Amino acid sequence: MNSKETAAPDSPQPAPAVESPRPVLPSHPIPPADQVFDKPREVTSSGKKKDIPIGVWTRCKGCGEMLTNMLLDENQKVCPKCQYHFTARASERLEWLADEDSFEEVDDNLSSVDALGFKGVSSYIEKLTHYQKSTGLVDAVISGFCKIDGHKTGLAIMDFSFLGASMGSVVGERITRIIEKSTKKKLPVILINASGGARMYEGMLSLMQMAKTSGALARHAQAGLPYISVLTNPTMAGVMASYASLGDIIVSEPQAMVGFAGARVIRETTREKLPAGFQTAEFLLDRGLIDMIVHRKKMKSTLANLLDFMGC
Ligand SMILES: [Zn+2]
Repeated sequence: MNSKETAAPDSPQPAPAVESPRPVLPSHPIPPADQVFDKPREVTSSGKKKDIPIGVWTRCKGCGEMLTNMLLDENQKVCPKCQYHFTARASERLEWLADEDSFEEVDDNLSSVDALGFKGVSSYIEKLTHYQKSTGLVDAVISGFCKIDGHKTGLAIMDFSFLGASMGSVVGERITRIIEKSTKKKLPVILINASGGARMYEGMLSLMQMAKTSGALARHAQAGLPYISVLTNPTMAGVMASYASLGDIIVSEPQAMVGFAGARVIRETTREKLPAGFQTAEFLLDRGLIDMIVHRKKMKSTLANLLDFMGC
């Protein structure tokens, strides 16, 4: 029932509603999930409050401190107060790890197809198009050859901002090819891992990537070549159950979440209280699954030392 029906016949009619023109919103790139969307307010010396533009500040998930994005960028996305390691893009990691102008990308022409005709809230093709636009990547990994402090190596870096770095056919194929190409060139391989797991949009095709990548690593190992796996937050499920856990040396960033099934699923299945620190890199270091935990700012020099140590 609206107001028109309840109004007496001689009562004044309400002014007709005027539709205000819709404001045209500027288009912004999608900010990472850990960025704060609310505008913080800054108090100036005169005591007046002024708005700070969106996307300038990020709240630290470790200590709650508000940090400027510029400070985070200068600090390799690590909180200077509590050393919390923020999610980083593959391009940023490449810049921090590889010697300048040494990276030659390979297999960048591979892109996913919608083999299952997957339809959910949005189709797989819509998802791919969205993430290709927001990240500038073709899929969730970049791969190629580079030098790390002069040591030549095969390198692949996963990017969590592309569909949670889920492992589909393209991720599996690019990882497999960089391992196989490194075997052929008699080079070590370093994989910087991050993933929520297999890509459900590709069903069984994503699961078979586990066997394919593991097989390539077995042949790389038979050739006497080293593989260093670097775990970042989070490295989970099918990726951790295949190539991420097969490193001759497994290095992790501090406090990275590493595991197979999520903690809630394990708790509900086993009906047991999980120990403190369960599925953290530190917990797994104590139990021998991880060889070392390395601060992001020391990652390049550590990888170079390891390659040197293994005669690469
Ligand atoms: Zn912090």
